[in-house]
Amino acid sequence: MDENWDVIVVGGGAAGLAAALMLGRARRSTVVIDAGSPRNRFAAHMHGTLGMEGLDPADLLHRGRSEVATYGVTVRSGTVTQADADADGVRVELADSAVLTARALVVTTGLVDELPAVEGLQRRWGRSVLHCPYCHGWEVRDARLGVILTSPLGVHQAQLVRQWSSDLTVFVADEQNLDARTAERLASRGVRVVREAVVALLGEGDGLTGVRTASGDIVDIDAVFIAATTRPSDAFLAGIELRRATTPMGEFVEVDATGRTSHPRIWAAGNVTNPGANVPMSIGAGTLVGAAVNAALVEEDFDAADAGRPDFRDAVS
Ligand SMILES: Cc1cc2nc3c(=O)[nH]c(=O)nc-3n(C[C@H](O)[C@H](O)[C@H](O)COP(=O)(O)OP(=O)(O)OC[C@H]3O[C@@H](n4cnc5c(N)ncnc54)[C@H](O)[C@@H]3O)c2cc1C
Repeated sequence: MDENWDVIVVGGGAAGLAAALMLGRARRSTVVIDAGSPRNRFAAHMHGTLGMEGLDPADLLHRGRSEVATYGVTVRSGTVTQADADADGVRVELADSAVLTARALVVTTGLVDELPAVEGLQRRWGRSVLHCPYCHGWEVRDARLGVILTSPLGVHQAQLVRQWSSDLTVFVADEQNLDARTAERLASRGVRVVREAVVALLGEGDGLTGVRTASGDIVDIDAVFIAATTRPSDAFLAGIELRRATTPMGEFVEVDATGRTSHPRIWAAGNVTNPGANVPMSIGAGTLVGAAVNAALVEEDFDAADAGRPDFRDAVS
């Protein structure tokens, strides 16, 4: 049987739980459906997160789930496989064949980081293989750092990482990713450039002591930064025509300043629409979307009452 809600939130990470908190407190019947794989699950601690500095990412979500439950929000484990929307409402289907309908849909499903197939790299992701110096740079300050350049965009990351350590080596397999002038610019601040592919990461467990390059050389390195290829987790939206924005990090569902997509009943927040958002930014975007969705439903409630139509639901009865 279909379940009917005011709002369905797909994705129960930082953005989704923040949206749900606002919606629950606004007395909207809200369900969060979450597949349970937040992007930062590989890291033991979160940083750059005022008020929760150093917290285990799992603890934040645990707290968030219990906070939204206080306001009557239901959090349900599951994966949404398909979503549809028309002028009157939205409908989602789950992998277990359950079908839910609602007046509004909030998409907060984040993204997936695709990493190159280098021996020993995947298991160190979020530990000694890092992507964001603001998140983990302080912890490896002044250490022997490496940047694996997989596209010209990685130059920005290499320049950033230099802020945390003067002992920095950039590895470039593809000549096209680093022109001579840019290599000179990096060298001007003491950055070494090795024009070879990294083929293996070395060290015990998830720690790092060095990298092996294609020629067999070993370079001593304590932590490596790499820009993963980012893919938004939005395949379940394929049946809905939504405007997308092309960014240097790929195509992402486009939203306005309040997080509304080009469909009037669908909003999005966090990494699924903004790959650069960290945890506090995702919480902020989710919070704004929660309020924006409630405001839109309030308008709709008044429109209906004003036109003499019955209320969608008397949420406060
Ligand atoms: C290794 C690593 C370390 C990081 N460290 C930090 C840090 O220290 N500080 C910081 O601020 N940021 C950090 N980040 C960034 C942080 O992970 C993101 O900013 C944050 O997770 C974005 O929140 P979100 O809610 O948009 O997405 P997520 O947190 O990724 O949540 C999305 C949720 O949606 C679920 N989902 C996906 N598809 C579906 C579906 N079809 N149906 C149902 N559910 C679905 C997922 O399983 C997941 O639970 C780090 C990122 C990485 C990769």
